[in-house]
Amino acid sequence: MTVVLFDMDGVILEGPRTDPQVYADAADTALAELDVDPTPRQRRDFRDHAHERIRTHCDDLGIDPARFWELKEHYASGGTHDRLRSGERGTYDDIDAIREVGERTPIGLVTNNRQETAEFVAEYAGFDFDVVRGRDPTFEGYERRKPDPYYIEDALADLGAAEGIYVGDSPKDITAGRAAGLETAFLRRPHNRKRSVNATHDLESLTEILSLVESSDSP
Ligand SMILES: [Mg+2]
Repeated sequence: MTVVLFDMDGVILEGPRTDPQVYADAADTALAELDVDPTPRQRRDFRDHAHERIRTHCDDLGIDPARFWELKEHYASGGTHDRLRSGERGTYDDIDAIREVGERTPIGLVTNNRQETAEFVAEYAGFDFDVVRGRDPTFEGYERRKPDPYYIEDALADLGAAEGIYVGDSPKDITAGRAAGLETAFLRRPHNRKRSVNATHDLESLTEILSLVESSDSP
């Protein structure tokens, strides 16, 4: 059985990553909810992702770092979902191929993005993924992002699968997919045209995955 696991940002959602403004707004909302008033410099760090600085500032302000992080992740998900609903951020026009792949073999969504957003996108796009795995809203969860194969391996365990293809738009997807023992497919998008990667497959469109599933299942 060949399962096909898909990355999300830059594969389904247009653009390679979440807009930094989403995290800035999320941090501000979390800080307001926790009722603290950081210095401008502290706020700048809270809007970014550097754990050590965030932990230090949380200690200085007397708030729980884990709680701040969880809130920030939650509000970042809300901001991302708003942008999708409003059409500010779109999806690529070839994503229906994912549905067709799913009619032939188990499919999964495995992303560095937040679990809450991964679940939203699966629902929003209307795909019947057999597994959806994004990062957990903890410091530890953040550290397990690709190129660490952790979430890919977790999804494979969930599917009871050992073989398959990981489809992504970034070199770290290829590193993580290979580390998890999968074939890899590098998907060309406007933002990664010139990237040189050593993937098993180099794709111009998600529609090309259909033939990969056919060829890998034939004797
Ligand atoms: Mg990506």
